[in-house]
Amino acid sequence: MSRTGKLRFRANRLSLLGSSIFAEVAAWKREAAANGLDIIDLGIGSPDQPPTEHVRQALSEAALREDMYAYPATSSGLPFREQAAAWMAHRFGVQVDPAHEIVTLMGSQDGLAHLAMAICDPGDTAFVPDPGYPIYAASLALAGVEPVFLPLREENAYLPDLDAIVEEVWDKAAFILLNYPNNPLSAVADLAFFERLIAKARKHDVLVVHDLAYSEMGFDGVEPPSILQVPGALEQAVEFHSLSKSFNMAGCRIGFLVGNRDAVAALRELKGNIDYGVFDPVQEAGIVALRDAIAAGNGAAKAADVYERRRNLFVEALRKEGWDVEAPKATMFVWAKLPSLRGQDGAVWNSRTISQEMLRQSGVVVIPGEAFGDEGAGYVRIALVEDETRLLEAAARIGRFLRAADVVG
Ligand SMILES: *Cc1c(COP(=O)(O)O)cnc(C)c1O
Repeated sequence: MSRTGKLRFRANRLSLLGSSIFAEVAAWKREAAANGLDIIDLGIGSPDQPPTEHVRQALSEAALREDMYAYPATSSGLPFREQAAAWMAHRFGVQVDPAHEIVTLMGSQDGLAHLAMAICDPGDTAFVPDPGYPIYAASLALAGVEPVFLPLREENAYLPDLDAIVEEVWDKAAFILLNYPNNPLSAVADLAFFERLIAKARKHDVLVVHDLAYSEMGFDGVEPPSILQVPGALEQAVEFHSLSKSFNMAGCRIGFLVGNRDAVAALRELKGNIDYGVFDPVQEAGIVALRDAIAAGNGAAKAADVYERRRNLFVEALRKEGWDVEAPKATMFVWAKLPSLRGQDGAVWNSRTISQEMLRQSGVVVIPGEAFGDEGAGYVRIALVEDETRLLEAAARIGRFLRAADVVG
């Protein structure tokens, strides 16, 4: 226990979680709001749309039932897992055993936070991407697992260079964690990449952990694949699914892990000691969301539609303001390379300073790329989580900010 910091009761372990930049952005935001600025928050990655009325109805009806208030684990939760299996078959053509190859989660964050603890021992190593979604590295720190960071760079379409990793490092690793469509990079991967990844992992007996939180958020007709579509992948991989973005159920806290049965069993065993399952009415609502998605068939309205329209409008508006950002192929994020800017004192700003100044001057919140790892320097992540009018307003304000700042070179 650390008694030397500002707080008396605070483990040093918390300092490994790497949440400091997000806390900093929150402080800038409070300061800007206190200064009377109208804030447009494009920092958070939480969908601003509700689930369908049918889903909300299922949740409320279940909540009124008297038999819904026991610990969910005691009723085993098999119906939700069966529906999840049916959805995997419908959406990806992947057949899984709901009793042994799926574990229900309190959102995929729950599973991401605990997986390393369930399948690794302290001193093991695992691959995580840089930039990466913050819980990936944090979960390793909590489990005492050594991270090997895989740089994801623009010149390689934000895919890791699997052949650049030496054989001994492959052999030592317990798992490799990747995420396509990617947060924060909004990059996508195709089945051919997943096939190469599974082949490498099989050769070195490494578990592939794939986070598919944005499976229903592809644009321009892109339908993000599941890594379990690769033949034999059930032996070598697990995949996280979330209803948060796909069905706008972020606040409900429901998702699942599907794939290799040993890893699924290990996570279920650990979670059996931590929580007693997802509230049954939430599982009922999840069943309805997945069942409706199957009934509607492919080509029906998806969560992606609203974000695709926002992307088109926002990217075009920013380009008109003189900032030529890359249009994302998926997710609700624009990963935007910053121009070089300098302040009035002549010093060149880094992405952290640019984000802070942009917020101070324009009221628009974005996340500096470094928040996701060193490789994120020079970029910001902009979330399309406000309506079209507000996004246009944000683009106009960003344009004014860029013109007022001195663009270097
Ligand atoms: C939002 C998000 C999650 C967490 O989703 P929950 O199911 O709500 O916990 C996981 N991974 C990525 C990449 C995300 O963006």
